[in-house]
Amino acid sequence: MSGAHTHRHGGATTCIEIDLGDARIIIDAGSGIADLGRVAIGNPKPTLLLMTHLHWDHVLGFPHFAPLYTPGWSLDIRGVPRDGTGVLDAMNNISKPPLFPVDLRVAAAAQVSTENLPSTGTTVFHGAEIAWMPVAHPGGCTAFWFQLGGFKIIFTGDLELRQTDLGALHSFAQNADLLICDAQYTEQEYLRYTGWGHSTNLDAAALAVATGAKRLLLTHHDPRRSDDEIDTMVADARQMFAHTEAARDGLTVSGSF
Ligand SMILES: [Zn+2]
Ligand SMILES: [Zn+2]
Repeated sequence: MSGAHTHRHGGATTCIEIDLGDARIIIDAGSGIADLGRVAIGNPKPTLLLMTHLHWDHVLGFPHFAPLYTPGWSLDIRGVPRDGTGVLDAMNNISKPPLFPVDLRVAAAAQVSTENLPSTGTTVFHGAEIAWMPVAHPGGCTAFWFQLGGFKIIFTGDLELRQTDLGALHSFAQNADLLICDAQYTEQEYLRYTGWGHSTNLDAAALAVATGAKRLLLTHHDPRRSDDEIDTMVADARQMFAHTEAARDGLTVSGSF
């Protein structure tokens, strides 16, 4: 949530861009994709939108992504179907009346294609190697692995590490240059929200240690979390893994892409 207490970290829900130079990958269409669209609109290039899952906080920005209404854009949306709903149906369902003033299927000017993914797999997009695997989250979620030019990024998506097959995840997530991990809860909160599908800041730090990550970004901040509380969670995580920071709106990380 946005407000005076979130001015430093922002209040947007999940949306991450990986700029490949001649193309871009976007992960999830949370409210952050609206700002991304405003920045990117003058720079159309092939865009792959990968969906970790279809929970509301990860799709709600989609109809507000301005490039959808802009000729010259092409958008390839891929994700694993959830509860029998594929990515195309999910996006169409939220982008039409009564939830949205126009029907995106009529209003869209961009070239949009969609593809349902199997639960695990690999692909290549404009030179970026991509792999994915399922993680523990109510209704399912996908963690993504990216590599380009030797730089590895892992994004866990929403996951409850204490309900996840850690052996499989640890081998999947080895030696990331950048590990972006769900850290919604404090240890104290987790006692109350066990089974809700999210991890703690210390779970994320332990994953960074176990997988040999170089840098950890805590993300999926609880909607009620203030900047100061996030700072405390980062400080606590740094006791276990020193190179920990909090994801925030507009944060840019440079790699050797
Ligand atoms: Zn979720
Ligand atoms: Zn979420």
